[in-house]
Amino acid sequence: MPASVAIVKGKNGKDLKEVRKMMAELFSLIGPAPKLIPRGSRVLIKPNLTAEENLWERGILTGPVFMQALVEEVQKTRPEEVIIAEAIAIGLNTKKAFAANGYEEVARVTGARLLDLYDGEFEEIKTPAGGLLKSVRVSREVLRADFFINAPVLKTHFASTLSAAMKNLKGTTTYDEKKRFHYLGLNKALTELNAVLKPHLNVVDGLIAMEGDGPIAGTPVGLNMLMAGTDAVAVDTIAARIMGIDPTEVLSLCLAQGMGLGVWDEEEIKVLGRSIEEVRRPFARACAPLESDAEKVRFLHGQACNACPNGLRIAMGRLKAAGISLEELPAVEISMGYEARLSGSAGYVQLPIGNCQKQYKHLPNYVPGCPPPAFLMGDQLREIMGIPRRFGSKKDFIME
Ligand code: SF4
Repeated sequence: MPASVAIVKGKNGKDLKEVRKMMAELFSLIGPAPKLIPRGSRVLIKPNLTAEENLWERGILTGPVFMQALVEEVQKTRPEEVIIAEAIAIGLNTKKAFAANGYEEVARVTGARLLDLYDGEFEEIKTPAGGLLKSVRVSREVLRADFFINAPVLKTHFASTLSAAMKNLKGTTTYDEKKRFHYLGLNKALTELNAVLKPHLNVVDGLIAMEGDGPIAGTPVGLNMLMAGTDAVAVDTIAARIMGIDPTEVLSLCLAQGMGLGVWDEEEIKVLGRSIEEVRRPFARACAPLESDAEKVRFLHGQACNACPNGLRIAMGRLKAAGISLEELPAVEISMGYEARLSGSAGYVQLPIGNCQKQYKHLPNYVPGCPPPAFLMGDQLREIMGIPRRFGSKKDFIME
């Protein structure tokens, strides 16, 4: 069945009055809202909040201006309740993210309720037979909402090329599921989750987007754009085109196609409002050479895809930003990709990264995952330097 994706463009994505108008136009294109959302619904909106600090103007997370305009638009349908709900990334605190990024004020002025999904219960639901996950634990609040709106921010991502509608659903799961996704294969796991959890509507915050080293260390892009659609695959396909990314470069979209999930055929996607060409703005990818000033670091590439080298580059950048000099590293050999072989040179610490290096899983510094989260790579570098880990024991990430 064909899908529609609506696109609206404005001039100033920080101006609430203007964003309200944009949101009303978006809903009139894709809805209107009263047609989409039955009166008296319990509406749950799931943003993407990826920071405990006030960083929404950097394009890291779904912004409060966007959220206020979205809640107000939903309230025109006379819902029983509007809930803004998130289960934030591993190592972060949802409530701190709400407080730091203006969500408490949004809740105060709109009457919406903020909900940390980790405070509630999760239900196990079966994922497609023969897949990676078998089942996945998803927030009961999300599953029981009468109307579920997925409200991601638009950004590039080191492990998934882009982060928009499909990726944002990971924030409906438990901490352990998030670890399991990274351990088993992030993009495949995400796609399987999307096969069993389908938002009623996806509304993408492209007011301040992010390019480069997403999800956290990229550069803000004042795109001043909103998108909406009922099909997450179609929304991400059009988002990719807007960002100058061929959808075939986005693994979750390719996997969706393989699973017959959603609408990925662009001939079948009707674009409403602005055209792709009118809003197209090529985004820099999370992709730069992996280099180190530290003399004693040796990289061994063996057909690694971009995700492991990008994650390591981002991890090293974060350590530097935290004032940790990589010059403190002893001589270290870092291997990635299924063809990389550690030389075992005397005097080198061995650091095999990613499931492609599983043959070295017995080594003390092996970092599991596909890709491992950047913070797990960072923690292993810390451990090698004799600095305490920040995100707990590595064994919590090994799930066999
Ligand atoms: S483990 Fe291998 S396939 Fe997975 S992200 Fe790393 S290099 Fe790519």
